[in-house]
Amino acid sequence: MYRPAQPCYMTSLKRYLTVVCLFLILLPCSLGVAAATPTPPRNIILMISDGLGPSAITAAREYYGSFALDEFFTGTIRTHSHDSAVTDSAAAATALATGVRTRNRVIGLAPDKTPLRTIMQEAKARNMATALIVTTPVTHATPAAFVAHVQHRKLMYDVAEQEANSGTDLLLGGGTMDWLPATKGGCRPDKQDLLSMLKQRGYHTATYQNNTLQIPALPAIGLFSRDNMDYVIDRRADSGPGLAEMTRQALVQLAKHQQGFILMVEGSRIDHAAHDNDAAAMLEEIRAYDETARVVLDFAKRDGATLVISVSDHETGGMSIGRDRDNKSYYAWRPEVLRKVRASSTAIAKLIIAGADPVSTVLKYTGLPGLTVQEQQELVQLSHAARETYKQSSGCSSRWQAGELQEKLKKPWKVSAVKQLRYWISEKVSQHALVGWTTHGHTGTDINLYAYGPGYENFRGNFPITYIAKAVAELMDFKRISAQIRKYQ
Ligand SMILES: [Zn+2]
Repeated sequence: MYRPAQPCYMTSLKRYLTVVCLFLILLPCSLGVAAATPTPPRNIILMISDGLGPSAITAAREYYGSFALDEFFTGTIRTHSHDSAVTDSAAAATALATGVRTRNRVIGLAPDKTPLRTIMQEAKARNMATALIVTTPVTHATPAAFVAHVQHRKLMYDVAEQEANSGTDLLLGGGTMDWLPATKGGCRPDKQDLLSMLKQRGYHTATYQNNTLQIPALPAIGLFSRDNMDYVIDRRADSGPGLAEMTRQALVQLAKHQQGFILMVEGSRIDHAAHDNDAAAMLEEIRAYDETARVVLDFAKRDGATLVISVSDHETGGMSIGRDRDNKSYYAWRPEVLRKVRASSTAIAKLIIAGADPVSTVLKYTGLPGLTVQEQQELVQLSHAARETYKQSSGCSSRWQAGELQEKLKKPWKVSAVKQLRYWISEKVSQHALVGWTTHGHTGTDINLYAYGPGYENFRGNFPITYIAKAVAELMDFKRISAQIRKYQ
């Protein structure tokens, strides 16, 4: 039988179907290729845990049971600065904000002193909302590096002025002293009232009353203390909002912004407690950072278009879990000792300097079981020296003006008797808790990196600290940042 037509027709149908099927099979593959160039995140939240190293994270996880960022761990960061294996916060924050390494103490300037473009300035130019939230003065090194450019981190009056003129949509933290003249309780030698100036320009004031933080609308500024905000462990009713609360309320406002936002939120005083080797105060600061991370991750999960990055700028204190004591190495640590501590070493030292009995005050607030006779003698001596040298000051001398920079830099730096008293109290607690410390400064160890949300996969690995800004610039197509990074590579 001759049946040419049908088979012939069937053959061509089969061919057609095969081509269609192949196309359908290959289509998702080609879409997959397209997905490798993803839509950029609408919002970026950069969390910075100042001074938080890997050992302290281990301690914190054990101390209160979990660490919210654990499941978003993506890598580690090498922190060294342009001129040192051990960075300070100014150089590290400059690297995070601009993608360029600079010298320690320098804010937002390249080693050749050229002002550097920051990711926050690029976001502003893109009509994204910008926000800085900290628990130090908002003029402190980390927040400063995202919007200001000064040759030394102590030039905080200049930083405040640059922040006031930066167009930053939200500033929350401490440090009215840098914004107000002496007549209004501040330190500004030029007698400017930058807060009134911002009000005239349409800034709202964030307020904290009856445990409630209110940010009426953006742009807004809220400074809740004259200098640093209180340590979490020392918080009282008038201490102002906590980091998690500031972040929660900020996100309500920022989320309204159609063009997206970039928020830098810093667990600022983890570093301060670690400088004092004050384990109990540090763990409470980490707990507040962890609570803040939960607020941020909740937001990002609901939003779906927010990239969250959490990173430290360096480790502070060189903490160890387990230590030597009385010529013996201990394979243990005792978090229960730290749970009994009810105040920071800073607050305890303040009470002693104000006249409280050294021994009973230390025992009352640290929860230590007792002090040896020799320890009591040491403490009384240190307390005496601290009272002798302590001068009630306005705190203004901690801020410098550009004209006096060279003179100030010549002065030799030494540990004050007040600091020695604080260090001693911290060390007694650490000995009992079997927590070790190697420095009252920073270390050069690698620190942890966490990421969640669209683009998070770009943060898997071990990177130089400049990589964060580089990856953000590539994701967001911040061309000027990418060009600047190539120039200084
Ligand atoms: Zn730092």
